[in-house]
Amino acid sequence: MATEHFDVLIVGAGLSGIGAGYHLQTQSPDRSYVILEGREAIGGTWDLFRYPGIRSDSDMYTLGYSFKPWTEAKAIADGPSILKYVRETARDYGIDKHIRYGHQVKAASWSSEDARWTVEAVQGGKMVRITANFLFLCGGYYSYEGGYTPDFPGVDKFKGKLVHPQKWPEDLDYAGKQVVVIGSGATAVTLVPAMANTAGHVTMLQRSPTYVVSRPAEDAMANKLRKWLPAKLAYSIIRWRNVLFGMWFFRLARTKPAQVKQNIIDMVRAQLGPDYDVGKHFTPNYNPWDQRLCLVPDADLFEAINAKTASVVTDHIETFTPTGIKLKSGEELKADIIVSATGLRLEVLNGIKFTVDGRAIDASQTLGYKGMMYDGVPNLASSFGYTNASWTLKCDLTCEYVCRVLNHMSRTGTRQATPRNDDPTIGQEPWLDFSSGYVQRAMEKFPKQGSRAPWKLHQNYARDLMSLRYAKIEDGVLEFSNPKPAVVKVREKVAA
Ligand SMILES: Cc1cc2nc3c(=O)[nH]c(=O)nc-3n(C[C@H](O)[C@H](O)[C@H](O)COP(=O)(O)OP(=O)(O)OC[C@H]3O[C@@H](n4cnc5c(N)ncnc54)[C@H](O)[C@@H]3O)c2cc1C
Repeated sequence: MATEHFDVLIVGAGLSGIGAGYHLQTQSPDRSYVILEGREAIGGTWDLFRYPGIRSDSDMYTLGYSFKPWTEAKAIADGPSILKYVRETARDYGIDKHIRYGHQVKAASWSSEDARWTVEAVQGGKMVRITANFLFLCGGYYSYEGGYTPDFPGVDKFKGKLVHPQKWPEDLDYAGKQVVVIGSGATAVTLVPAMANTAGHVTMLQRSPTYVVSRPAEDAMANKLRKWLPAKLAYSIIRWRNVLFGMWFFRLARTKPAQVKQNIIDMVRAQLGPDYDVGKHFTPNYNPWDQRLCLVPDADLFEAINAKTASVVTDHIETFTPTGIKLKSGEELKADIIVSATGLRLEVLNGIKFTVDGRAIDASQTLGYKGMMYDGVPNLASSFGYTNASWTLKCDLTCEYVCRVLNHMSRTGTRQATPRNDDPTIGQEPWLDFSSGYVQRAMEKFPKQGSRAPWKLHQNYARDLMSLRYAKIEDGVLEFSNPKPAVVKVREKVAA
């Protein structure tokens, strides 16, 4: 059977993959494309995670697409509403017709002679091959096989239920039960108040505290503006306001960390009262934005603590026991259910093995170009969002840039676009500079970023806007070329 061919092959039908489909069909409409999705569903993260209270931790005016206004009342939205938004986008723009479900991409090999990728995907236990001129990775950043659970001592002794939020049992009944949630990240602070509504008691057990900031779930100004202005205009105003506020706040955290730290802690103290030990439970030993800040809508976590349906314990696990957890301090936490909200396992380049002209690519040895292409790897881009702002802000820009590159190739009749670093003074730095455990565990396997543009990852929307939407495509680093097709070479040989 002939191998199917597309101009562009997108990996993943989550928020990024659907966005990529939209940008391709509107900005590079002459290109055919297919989306290969490993699961049987659209939506990625927002379909996979089903734990109680699942929600965004950034606002939907920036987590939503630039081209599709978020029109629901809540800015910090629940998982099902986000999934509905992604599905609607795919359906309304006919992107869903391009998706092939149950295709897990395993390998991709580039041939310069043919100027195309041969992509291998497993579908129903069989290997399927598809070729494409350009490969766009939109498969997110973590493994879908399972989250990270540390080797807890004595875990086998525990007689209750141990669950990981990434694989939430649909029938888990926690009403009236004693629950311990291990962790202090975004998932833990979401789960604790949501479970506390019906559980007997929920304890958040953390080794060390995280910065927690409360914001209203609804954005009053956005909801008012939507009544007065056309949806698109209102959306774009609020999106820009939130982008600018986020950039200002991040900069302030970097330039005046002590002041920002104090303000956050004062806000927590105002929520929990003077008698609560905010120093122990909500005062991290790192600066704001050295790790991702945790957002709680309408102070729900603090309300649960005040209502005594939830509590925070800052301590280390000595061992699991048949009835719960014994802590290093000697205290014991009784538990019917323990939730290990201990994070994700990061995945490099969507878990795909790459070769370029027969040479295996070691991701950890490559340098990222503009945070989306890779030194010496032709016609490959990946969508990797911000760590200090909404993911989609960067992905929208990445998609725009991919379309600019494709359109430039059409105009110039070139078939290959390859970033090449021949500047020996460019230093190498880790892809992400977050101190969180789940990031640190994975960084050695990730590509590196360079010390200067265009190899530097700025985590800054304004700089990326300039670099991806407005900067010249021909920058002397992204090389456009036209390797001779194999058939031409054979003809030349014959003629000689
Ligand atoms: C619980 C949770 C909450 C989050 N909240 C926020 C938030 O509020 N704001 C924010 O900015 N970010 C948040 N994030 C990060 C979030 O993942 C992104 O915002 C966004 O959803 C990522 O979209 P994506 O399409 O890039 O990746 P995903 O949502 O991970 O989707 C990737 C898709 O690609 C598929 N795929 C992956 N590899 C392959 C392969 N090799 N072959 C075929 N298919 C493949 C997967 O099956 C999946 O469907 C959150 C993450 C989690 C886990």
